[in-house]
Amino acid sequence: MVEVRLENIVKKFGDTVALKGINLHIKHGELFTLLGPSGCGKSTTLRIIAGLDYPTEGKVWFGDQDVTNLSSSERGAVLVFQNYALWPHMTIFDNVAYGLKLRKLPKEEIKKKVEWALDLVKLRGFEDRYPTQLSGGQQQRVAIARAIVVEPKLLLLDEPLSNLDAKLRLEMRSEIRRIQRELGITVLYVTHDQEEAMAISDRIAVMNVGTVEQVGTPREIYEHPRTEFVASFMGKTNVIPAKVVERNGDRVTVEFESFRLENLHYTGESDNVVIVIRPERISLQPVEDGITLEGTVDLVEYYGFFIEVIGLFGETRIIARTIGSRDVGNIKPTMPVKFYIRRDDILVLPKQQL
Ligand code: ATP
Repeated sequence: MVEVRLENIVKKFGDTVALKGINLHIKHGELFTLLGPSGCGKSTTLRIIAGLDYPTEGKVWFGDQDVTNLSSSERGAVLVFQNYALWPHMTIFDNVAYGLKLRKLPKEEIKKKVEWALDLVKLRGFEDRYPTQLSGGQQQRVAIARAIVVEPKLLLLDEPLSNLDAKLRLEMRSEIRRIQRELGITVLYVTHDQEEAMAISDRIAVMNVGTVEQVGTPREIYEHPRTEFVASFMGKTNVIPAKVVERNGDRVTVEFESFRLENLHYTGESDNVVIVIRPERISLQPVEDGITLEGTVDLVEYYGFFIEVIGLFGETRIIARTIGSRDVGNIKPTMPVKFYIRRDDILVLPKQQL
């Protein structure tokens, strides 16, 4: 187990500034995820922690040891890449045993450890097979067994599930969570998939063009995004450009199109704002201390266990998500509709240059 701290990490590749001063604190035994769109700097951050690349500025700490200039092997961290490349000519046993053989452990001990690791990923009995004789998910599990068998201080997983189909991804992410809990190791996970990040992580850092915009538990990030980028990146959400037209302490009135929303919480400086409303927080029935938006139905989309009603308010499309068809009744496109939203569920954030 290890605690990792990144202190003001800057990484330049020629003129490209891939990381613009990253500060992160990853605690002992937590599953910490770097989440963000392609090119935001997730892999670069991971490689700098692994010791596969070095920062232009800043420091990397493992506990109270400054590891900034240590090589990868001196750090005791193991990185599993998205293309988990097993050695095709080696059996599963030899693939997993590889790191232990390099360390010249006695044969008996290697056997015991390999069996332990294969048990953990539920692949006992597959020792004599070759990688091509396994499914994608099984190969991925071998890659994880190969990483944990050397008992790393830190396990780094870079989009480890991206080559798997949807069902296997779900299975494997629960497996990774289980293994991490069982071993109590610190895991740093990289993904661009917000749902995967939410499901698997203790905490998430949301990254955007070389910076960390917010760090928090999945719930904090989803329910209390601090920036427009974080709000819009975390799942389907309504982000409506608006203007602050009146202020009274930390309460404001905002306007978009011909709609005027009063008494909302906002403490930002800019009057150019966005209103953020999660679709599942919009009701088709009146709510307490809420606002009402009157518009027309544009579309009704049926997803099985929930239904989305897309309303048109002027030219602004707003999605409401409701569970069960009873609330929706006979609503059809072009019909008038009222969306009800509790004031507490409306977030006003400064408009960002995205
Ligand atoms: P993805 O999800 O697509 O893997 P990422 O968030 O992991 O993206 P990085 O691979 O860390 O992003 O890249 C961050 C930025 O740094 C990108 O703009 C990328 O083009 C640039 N970059 C990364 N590696 C190099 C390199 N070796 N030389 C030049 N530029 C690089």
